[in-house]
Amino acid sequence: MPSPRPSSPRVPGRASEQAAALPPGLTGGGGARGRAKPPRHLADLGLPERRAAVAELGERPFRADQLSRQYFARLADEPGEMTDLPQSCRQGLADALLPRLLTAERELECDGGTTRKTLWRTFDHAYVESVLMRYPGRVTMCVSSQAGCGMACPFCATGQAGLTRNLSTAEIVEQVVAGARSLARGQVPGGPGRVSNVVFMGMGEPLANYRSVVQAVRRLTEAPPAGLGISARGITVSTVGLVPAIGRLAAEGLPVTLAVSLHAPDDEARDELVPVNRRWKVAEVLDAAWHYADVTGRRVSIEYALIRDVNDQAWRADLLGSLLTGHLAHVNLIPLNPTPGSRWTASRPAAQDEFVARLEAHGVAVTVRDTRGREIDGACGQLAVLSREDDPPDPPLRSAPGNPGAESSIR
Ligand code: SAH
Repeated sequence: MPSPRPSSPRVPGRASEQAAALPPGLTGGGGARGRAKPPRHLADLGLPERRAAVAELGERPFRADQLSRQYFARLADEPGEMTDLPQSCRQGLADALLPRLLTAERELECDGGTTRKTLWRTFDHAYVESVLMRYPGRVTMCVSSQAGCGMACPFCATGQAGLTRNLSTAEIVEQVVAGARSLARGQVPGGPGRVSNVVFMGMGEPLANYRSVVQAVRRLTEAPPAGLGISARGITVSTVGLVPAIGRLAAEGLPVTLAVSLHAPDDEARDELVPVNRRWKVAEVLDAAWHYADVTGRRVSIEYALIRDVNDQAWRADLLGSLLTGHLAHVNLIPLNPTPGSRWTASRPAAQDEFVARLEAHGVAVTVRDTRGREIDGACGQLAVLSREDDPPDPPLRSAPGNPGAESSIR
């Protein structure tokens, strides 16, 4: 199992709540000690806190609402565009509450420009990626919740590199706002549009950065000027299966879709494919998922990367089918996207077809995820490596996400 960066001790406090319960070698959250925090941004704060912050700057509190409307509704990114704010305070408010958090380092597109991947550089030179995917009738943004990841899944590119740090709420929200902005400005083929769906399937384990992720979901779903006004039903949080955090999420009253990266129905295979399984076994993860479905009424998405001769045997399909039958679940099969140098590859078509047929025979709903964005997926892993060479003086770069480019069936 690759170990995270040697200089990334676990940090005490809230961020390491999950990490404390993880097996040795896994780092749940928190990142390296001593890292500077990202600057405070309007999207980190609720509307009342923004009003207080504006008042501290000596401005009238309602300016916070105006600034918020500019950011979340008008999607403005230059103080000069914020013409309802007096010129005398525009720059000051923007400097204090709209610091630049993410700088686009590279952009890649495919599918005629309707799939677009951005490599972002954070203020402290960590790198994260987001992907915009436009389909007829919807636009999905796949976002990162951490720079790197501490979960060490051996088939995932991000998992190999270890965790750099948690993203702040605003760093997560900014990825979506940037996509919303390019859609609103007609920069994505298909005419002006809006983000309808957000999936936490980029870099990182969202439930290991619990507080920032839940706050980001609130910001994304609150109506303007508090937030972006995306329906919670269009948001999917994907997890390796941090059982206590799934329970906590169920109690938040946020009707987001939960996706569980199961990848094996038996502990023997899952212990290897998803190392956190050594702490929370398949049965416990599924119990947490069923509890989530009970509380929220939302169908849980079971993610399963099909890996040739590793987890794609017919008996595993039958076992998975028997575990899921009768539950509010849907299986999303993902043909493995092999990482560079991987000893594993995607299943043979016949094995994949058999896997689908066996799940269906158990009455389980199943889709095979399309491989949209795959061309730029692999390329992006290399992008991060290239940037590392361009950018030597700063902390080491984390690599690219395992699979953010491929999404289709999660709405
Ligand atoms: N940490 C979260 C979200 C990030 S990854 C999680 O594990 O759910 C989003 C999905 O992509 C997960 O299901 C993950 O297992 C899958 N994935 C990662 N690398 C992959 C690869 N090389 N091929 C196919 N799926 C992959």
